[in-house]
Amino acid sequence: MEQKFAGEGLREWESPLYLEALHQFDRVAELIGLDENIAERLRVPQRSIVVTFPYRKDDYSDVESLFGYRVQHLLTMGPTKGGIRYAPDVNLGEVAALAMLMTWKCAIVGLPFGGAKGGVRVDPLALSRSETQRVTRRYTAEIINFIGPNKDIPAPDMGTDEQVMAWIMDTYSQQVGHSEPAVVTGKPPALGGSVARREATGRGLVSLLPMAAQQAGMDLDGACVSVHGFGNVGRYAALAAQQLGTRVVAISDISGGVHNGKGLDVEDAMAYVDKHRTLEGFTGGGDRITNAELLTIDCDVLMPCATGGVVTGDNAGDIKAKIIMEGANGPTTLAADEILNERGVLVVPDILANAGGVTVSYFEWVQDLQNYFWSESEIVGRLREIMSRAFDEVLSVATKHETDLRTAALIRGIRKVADAKLARGVFP
Ligand code: GLU
Repeated sequence: MEQKFAGEGLREWESPLYLEALHQFDRVAELIGLDENIAERLRVPQRSIVVTFPYRKDDYSDVESLFGYRVQHLLTMGPTKGGIRYAPDVNLGEVAALAMLMTWKCAIVGLPFGGAKGGVRVDPLALSRSETQRVTRRYTAEIINFIGPNKDIPAPDMGTDEQVMAWIMDTYSQQVGHSEPAVVTGKPPALGGSVARREATGRGLVSLLPMAAQQAGMDLDGACVSVHGFGNVGRYAALAAQQLGTRVVAISDISGGVHNGKGLDVEDAMAYVDKHRTLEGFTGGGDRITNAELLTIDCDVLMPCATGGVVTGDNAGDIKAKIIMEGANGPTTLAADEILNERGVLVVPDILANAGGVTVSYFEWVQDLQNYFWSESEIVGRLREIMSRAFDEVLSVATKHETDLRTAALIRGIRKVADAKLARGVFP
């Protein structure tokens, strides 16, 4: 087929994560014989917004400029949906890759959204609360024409939280002249945020563990779990894993990790982090370890819940876990995936495993639009139902195609999107 624009244009988004996402997509597109015109459209995001903007530091005379991004991968399915991350190395390519993954994620769990992702290149730990507020409000002002309850609905991601969502909601509402809670999800409940949103990604992840264990022939009672990352995903995943009867033997965050073969008390660790901001100095009756050590420590289940690209070709051969549940987005590189598949490690991929967050975000958006709020038990029950149905569906694709769960999840997500694109046709 004749070369389309995308091959050339790819330079715009080029980054290691984007190339990996593209490689996965191309492989599956070929496997399912995807229409080439549709494949060409899906390889690149529909909208990429890059902004630069100033904010005042707490020393009022000091003004700093920042880069901000918002990428909307696909506008076919409904509004776009995805988090906003604040991190020192965020770039357009990373955000574009994550927006593409959000498209597949939403399709796999059957949400009426295309994928999006945003980011500001800034170290959130280096900002004071008032600086974070000014950065957030100005970034929101810069992208305000592209977001909205029917356009694009941001949510928390790495380095952002409920408070950041509240400031986005307030900035947007000030501009449109009325309160508009449905413009973001992951807000504080006082502003129309959903109860159980904060715990949703971790809980959703662990809700799939019994099904994964059944596949791997593993008895979960007393099974050892290590959790890489103790932020919004990792801490609630660890807690849910403990409540399920497993032993959480290792946890870690930016300050390093801790290992206790007898099991750590997750609630103790959470209380410690609430007080001290990180796990630095926490031992939980065990030993301090590095993040690298945590990934290859003796355990049955590994949950990478921190950031992308941590399970690599270099450490995949040393991983002891028999099941990997991907709480983070893109934690496993392509090279690692091949090694893990060969070694028979069951990897429950990010686009399925961590979809609980965006699923409860969807509930929050629906509740905000209707001004009718559900009980926690309704939310948790519906989350479980959606997650387990998605797992079953992905598993049956995997069985049919004799393939791994990541490939199967991609097949399912890409097919759904392709069907919708074919049905809508080309405008004009
Ligand atoms: N940032 C989360 C994710 O990557 C949640 C997105 C959302 O709730 O919209 O799935």
